[in-house]
Amino acid sequence: MDLPRIFAIRESSHRIHNPFTPRKLEALGEALRLETGTRILDLASGSGEMLCTWARDHGVTGVGVDISTAFTAGARARAVALGVEGSVVFEHDDATGYVSAEAVDVAACVGATWIGGGVAGTIELLERSLRPGGMVLIGEPYWRREVPDHDTAAGCGASGSEDFLLLPDLLGQFGDLGYDVVEMVLADQDSWDRYQAAQWLNLRRWLDENPADELAAEVRDELTREPVRYTRYQREYLGWGVFALIKRRGG
Ligand code: SAH
Repeated sequence: MDLPRIFAIRESSHRIHNPFTPRKLEALGEALRLETGTRILDLASGSGEMLCTWARDHGVTGVGVDISTAFTAGARARAVALGVEGSVVFEHDDATGYVSAEAVDVAACVGATWIGGGVAGTIELLERSLRPGGMVLIGEPYWRREVPDHDTAAGCGASGSEDFLLLPDLLGQFGDLGYDVVEMVLADQDSWDRYQAAQWLNLRRWLDENPADELAAEVRDELTREPVRYTRYQREYLGWGVFALIKRRGG
């Protein structure tokens, strides 16, 4: 059980595996007004930057679950580096169907809603670990503007325009599912660049060091195509954000 190796190559320099900068992650932690001792479950926690920095900055405690051995090892090392290894635990596991033994105050899935089969299913999954009145955090892409054709959707890594919604429609979907949207922090084109453009130097460095690796041809091809694909499609059309939700009472 592991994430395909290409992800660890592409994102070898990343602490945050989504289009947020450290500053945006910090802004989100501040926006949520986290109190000391807040218990957080983070499904698909990646390299653990959210839990580790929030433990350092806000005194939260947490459990992160991720299927990548490389990212989970990075998360554990990061906890030690920040001196929060007593507050956060990182489990190497499949987060599909993962429910925590004890109810948490905040249940998060930031950039991996496929683990619940989409936004609605992931919210339902997170809810099973949440105390009544707790907060759900969902990180999810949305269309910055209407997608004109299939090539554009495909160029954004989607199977079609129906994969994502425009931002107001995504917020409307949260409402239809019975949740108040109580906060959000959005990526922007510069923070997208920190996620995507940073991958190109990772790919190039890896290629220079591993010319005979079985993945070398695939990595060569990706590095050749990626800058044009990203700037033609994804940078213009795909937005991303983290949305904080609290279930409406009686609904
Ligand atoms: N939330 C993290 C990581 C987002 S990237 C961050 O914001 O930095 C998506 C993550 O989902 C990767 O770390 C990947 O290893 C993880 N992942 C993918 N499928 C998974 C699964 N079935 N169970 C747990 N983690 C999964």
